[in-house]
Amino acid sequence: MNCPKCNSNMNEVEVNVQGAKNKALSYQCSKCDYFEFEPKSSKKVVEELRETPLKIKQKIVTLSQDRLGMYFNNNIVRSLDLKRGEEIYVSVPDKKHIVIEVRS
Ligand SMILES: [Zn+2]
Repeated sequence: MNCPKCNSNMNEVEVNVQGAKNKALSYQCSKCDYFEFEPKSSKKVVEELRETPLKIKQKIVTLSQDRLGMYFNNNIVRSLDLKRGEEIYVSVPDKKHIVIEVRS
């Protein structure tokens, strides 16, 4: 499998998702920052996480002009130890979920 952006080799990496026993399989480009989840394994993780205790209702807010975003509340910040300026990976495994990965 090659990167759709730069055609370099993709590395297969197992991703531990907090609160899930199943591991999500991901493909990460060895050259650029392209990253995607393998759909079957990420679906399993999403299904497992559906029963997660940390489920928080949040509103999508307007950040600037036509850009939307959401805030991470304190529970999320503390449980993931998020810091300002940190880079995260955001994937959309299906039409109902956003998966955010912190530090792979
Ligand atoms: Zn690439």
